[in-house]
Amino acid sequence: MRRHFFTLLSFFIISTTIFAQNIQSPKDFLGYELGTRFTNHYRVVDYYQYLAKASNMIQLEEYGKTNEHRLLQIAYVSTPENLANLESIRKNHLANAGIGTSSASADKAIVWLSYNVHGNESSSTEASMKTIYELITSKKIWLQNTVVIIDPCINPDGRDRYVNWYNQVASVPYNSHQKAKEHDEPWPGGRPNHYLFDLNRDWAWATQVETRQRLKVYNKWLPHIHVDFHEQGINEPYYFAPAAEPFHEVITDWQRNFQIQIGKNHAGYFDKEGWLYFTRERFDLFYPSYGDTYPTFNGAIGMTYEQAGHGRAGLGIMTDEGDLLTLKDRIAHHHTTGLSTVEISSKNVDKLNAEFKKFFSNKDFTYKSYVLEGNQDRINKLTTLLDRHEIKYGFTANTTIKGYDYESNSQKSNKVNNALVVSTNQPKAKMVKVLFEPNAKLSDSVTYDITAWSIPYAYGLKTTASKTLVSTNAITKDSIIFNSDYGTSPAYIISWNSIKDAAFLSRLLKNKFRIRFTEKPIVYDGKKFDRGSLIITRSDNKNIANFNTSLADLANSSKIIMTKIGSGFSDNGVDLGSPDIKEIKMPKVAVMSGKTTSSLGFGELWYFFEQELKFPVTNINSESFSANTLNSFNVLVLPDGNYKEVFNNKQLQVLKNWISRGGKVIAMKGALRTFEGKEGFGLTKKEREKEDKKNEIISYAKSERKNISNYITGAIFKTKVDTTHPLGFGYNDSYFTLKLGSDAYDYLKKGYTVTYLEDNNVVSGFAGYKAAKNIKNTLVFGEQRIEKGSVIYMVDNPMFRAFWENGKLFFANAIFMVNNNSFEL
Ligand SMILES: [Zn+2]
Repeated sequence: MRRHFFTLLSFFIISTTIFAQNIQSPKDFLGYELGTRFTNHYRVVDYYQYLAKASNMIQLEEYGKTNEHRLLQIAYVSTPENLANLESIRKNHLANAGIGTSSASADKAIVWLSYNVHGNESSSTEASMKTIYELITSKKIWLQNTVVIIDPCINPDGRDRYVNWYNQVASVPYNSHQKAKEHDEPWPGGRPNHYLFDLNRDWAWATQVETRQRLKVYNKWLPHIHVDFHEQGINEPYYFAPAAEPFHEVITDWQRNFQIQIGKNHAGYFDKEGWLYFTRERFDLFYPSYGDTYPTFNGAIGMTYEQAGHGRAGLGIMTDEGDLLTLKDRIAHHHTTGLSTVEISSKNVDKLNAEFKKFFSNKDFTYKSYVLEGNQDRINKLTTLLDRHEIKYGFTANTTIKGYDYESNSQKSNKVNNALVVSTNQPKAKMVKVLFEPNAKLSDSVTYDITAWSIPYAYGLKTTASKTLVSTNAITKDSIIFNSDYGTSPAYIISWNSIKDAAFLSRLLKNKFRIRFTEKPIVYDGKKFDRGSLIITRSDNKNIANFNTSLADLANSSKIIMTKIGSGFSDNGVDLGSPDIKEIKMPKVAVMSGKTTSSLGFGELWYFFEQELKFPVTNINSESFSANTLNSFNVLVLPDGNYKEVFNNKQLQVLKNWISRGGKVIAMKGALRTFEGKEGFGLTKKEREKEDKKNEIISYAKSERKNISNYITGAIFKTKVDTTHPLGFGYNDSYFTLKLGSDAYDYLKKGYTVTYLEDNNVVSGFAGYKAAKNIKNTLVFGEQRIEKGSVIYMVDNPMFRAFWENGKLFFANAIFMVNNNSFEL
């Protein structure tokens, strides 16, 4: 065996040396010059696989599959010697971050280039092929001390959606007229992934399969440099580092400074060619879920590069200034910055390693430990997220924690028992601070995204931030035994607290169980079950074979705890046969999609029903919607959108008739405008107080800043909840909402105002003072009855990016609990 091995090895060395001189360029391999066509994702995969075979300077690692089963892979690009020692290079590098141990000090730069996170920003995957080819042919010298990791396409489903569409409609030769069909991408466009999520907003929340799989390989490496290649509007030439303010305060001076060095290196190449660019404007480093900030908060110099182009540009388009912008140009620019990034990194290896180490040794944190308590399902969901980020945690014994109390926004002492503790004495300390601190310091209020995301509010957990380190025990695994004997009880009760409970309800309904819920608290054997608790009786389920064991099997496999009750006679007078215990009918749900909806708003619901609730719904298309469509449904969900065209006066009347007969509409965010001020809907916009018009002059340059006083782009507010209404079941009397806009509506005069803002103090994040003033005494979530049916108004969108865990139950309540009448189709 050994001798054969050596023979094989020498053959391998000889053959790869020969092949190395004959490696096919992208043009040779694909049969066309880059920039003359768009390359389908499978052909990109082919080329990378070809390169890995033809060159000893490339190793491929498959790291997953997309929702549509496309391959996700990264390529390691370096010298054969480095590739042979990849694992020790990785360990030595991670040891600088305080992770694991090393056999030698780190002496390589780790540069990670990510392409095409937005599928229709399509020049970058093409550029990646040119870049990897040149790295292993003419630019080998940089690879002596550098490992380049290339992800040629983060979002293959979105990219192919764009490329397939473009190839179908484009003229030959291409038409550069801006109004040509090939520059007018149809809904929903190629930007998002399969579930229409923006993957460049998902790094921190890791809700999507692409992100989840990528984080595993990303955290294995934690590179020094991470570049996320994008495209912007056709008239803005090129953007590269340094980034714009605001910078999050965890970003070090070194990270700022090296961005400038990188930018200057690029500028040298761009100036030589006479290419235009801008820096330090527009793209900031604050919200932690981007492809630049997430790597930055994990020790990298994280950057976004933006080329003019986007889903409009095709193979060539005339800009507003009358210049022809071609795919070839776009590839050339992204190729240049990619190589320039590797070059400058290779020239600064020692500094990169020294500063990377310093980033992780920073101990200067106000809060040393975050201590969280609450519903076990939510705690489990949070620990799953922490595991994805490789953030360590533990649990406390019975103790008292002094510190900042999130609920009351004050210093307090809280007694806790077996609470979750996340501390900053770990390599991922900066991520911990960014995700958990109550209020991130904002150096400039003009930002690109939401300004608040604090996990304790998003997960609805009672939290104390402590300035001293809280000691923890080793993690104790779930000690609950689910497969206990459920016997042959006449009924079982399940508390209603989380999306896990809602998913179980969905499973029971799909398995044809008849389920009830209680509208009043109910007490059995001294144990109180709150409003919304599910009740499953044997007498309701005579059609289910082996009722007790069938139900127990489902509960066990869903890890749901049921309480068995011996008799229908309760402790508190709400017996099993009470009229306040109502049946939950299987809802027949239609979800609007298409041109009139926000693709993100629709995608969040599609994902929620399919992947979280696992509940069957019918996605319908607004273009072919008519009143007749509703006859086979009893719930209509209108995601954020503009439905003016769908619901003209006549269609709105038909909708109202359907509601009167027992239909239920759940309208979210922008969809509320469909009903605002319309007769019979009782939804009124809160008018802003007239301001005394000051006789003042605002300069042109300051007008942008003047406008921000009218905006809320994402800030956290404390609301009150009527927990006696089915929409509020499973909640406490206060709830922290993420407000994403300044739309404000009065309390419902004829309906139920269930969640509302009595106050307008911002708990976390930025809100323009005029907008904030106006949201005092406004509706957040409410229900309006119209004869037998209902409209549920959701001013805020709890499904936003699927990360506001604590809001999702409101939506599940709207589906299953609120006015779940026996509307017969
Ligand atoms: Zn982009």
